[in-house]
Amino acid sequence: MAATITPTQYGMEAPPPYQPPDKQMLQTTYTQPQPMVMQPVMTSTNTVVVQSAGRLGKGPSNILCNSCHQNVVTRTTRSLKGEAWLLALVLCCLGGILCVWIPFVMDSMYETTHHCPSCNAFQGTT
Ligand SMILES: [Zn+2]
Repeated sequence: MAATITPTQYGMEAPPPYQPPDKQMLQTTYTQPQPMVMQPVMTSTNTVVVQSAGRLGKGPSNILCNSCHQNVVTRTTRSLKGEAWLLALVLCCLGGILCVWIPFVMDSMYETTHHCPSCNAFQGTT
């Protein structure tokens, strides 16, 4: 014969385990901010605006000519900037005549001039 359990006994034993769950709730709220730090990493890479007329690069560039309004690949000429001669003079004074060649091999001392191949209009320098 199985013994019957009275519901009044369960109702009396329920209140004691009331406080321990509160301490666990506080600990879980402290551990939540850590995984959220890793979220904002890859969000700002989609906003690249590419214009139909390309920008001028170091080499021949595909642009929309501002004179004849055709989509052309620019004709480029590479020339030495005026600053290169000034830098060569400074280097000559500081380091002697053997340092004069340095500005003439530096890529940043050269500028590329872009012209339209069909109407020969000046497009800009880089
Ligand atoms: Zn043109």
